[in-house]
Amino acid sequence: MRAITLTPGVRNSARLDDVTEPAAADGSLLVRALALGICGTDREIVEAEYGEAPPGQERLVLGHESLGVVEQASGGFATGDHVVGIVRRPDPAPCPACAAGEWDMCRNGRYTERGIKARHGFGSERFRLEPEFAVKVDPSLGLLAVLLEPTSIVAKAWDHTERIGRRARWFGPRTVAITGAGPIGLLAALMGVQRGLDVHVIDRNRDGPKPGLVRDLGATHHTDVNDLDTIKPDILMECTGGAVVIRDVLGRTAPAGIVCLLSVTASRIMDIDIGLLNRKTVLNNDVMFGAVNANRLHYEMGEQALAQADKAWLERLITRRVPLARWSEALEHRPDDIKVVVDFTL
Ligand code: BGC
Repeated sequence: MRAITLTPGVRNSARLDDVTEPAAADGSLLVRALALGICGTDREIVEAEYGEAPPGQERLVLGHESLGVVEQASGGFATGDHVVGIVRRPDPAPCPACAAGEWDMCRNGRYTERGIKARHGFGSERFRLEPEFAVKVDPSLGLLAVLLEPTSIVAKAWDHTERIGRRARWFGPRTVAITGAGPIGLLAALMGVQRGLDVHVIDRNRDGPKPGLVRDLGATHHTDVNDLDTIKPDILMECTGGAVVIRDVLGRTAPAGIVCLLSVTASRIMDIDIGLLNRKTVLNNDVMFGAVNANRLHYEMGEQALAQADKAWLERLITRRVPLARWSEALEHRPDDIKVVVDFTL
């Protein structure tokens, strides 16, 4: 079968390979791929900045944003079910977090991730899943269900933000600011609107599809980060991973604000007044925290968010569909791209 594979640590080693059928050890569900979403992590892996092949193997099957149809069923699934694979597997120890099903909070770093860290991904014509790491999705979502993995990341950010908020009795946020209008920023905005919040998205794009997508949610699009001084958000979700943006947003929430960082950044040294930031953080009881990955609860929250969303709006997030034979085009970042998907049905 065909699969997108690469040698982690070797730049531009990605190619469309002919590989053996998925190993039975990957799980008892045999799934035929329908779609694979591409994100910044995949591009980093292709650029040799991240990623790890399974032990004893040279190449890694890429891809962690999956959607497929069950071909051989087991464990509560039926042939024909549409499924999305959970990305992370608990560490073998397991640490207390992984033992409690919160592998997204792994304490010893020995977790594995499909298509990212020491496990083959979903970028192949067929893949296998353990039933406990498969999520059944509503087939009426069609290809849109490929958005579930990124939505699970955003759902975790919301879940943890709300848990942190409950440290104080006042917590009943009204305003959220989101930096970035890529898939993560737009899905964070969607879930903010679904919570009845006043949502502001700060994004550098004046043209293209993003400002309209923000407005059609009923949120406000801004191009100037200094607008934060008037927005005074209770919650800020940083979805660009840009060092300059991060510097510019820290310390700019309303008092007792919560900043959630949910995108990774390349190392970058910058001048920042840590004394002033510390002073503001302490005197305002502010919180800044990071969020990565997602556990089953977050996939379930993500499914609900997608089910409640306007399908026509979600369709506009998928800006390009590329057949597997032209997989490399999916990894190119073109102007106006939001989510690019390898469509195995084309
Ligand atoms: C994936 C997460 C993963 C993270 C770090 C993200 O792109 O969506 O599931 O935990 O990368 O590897």
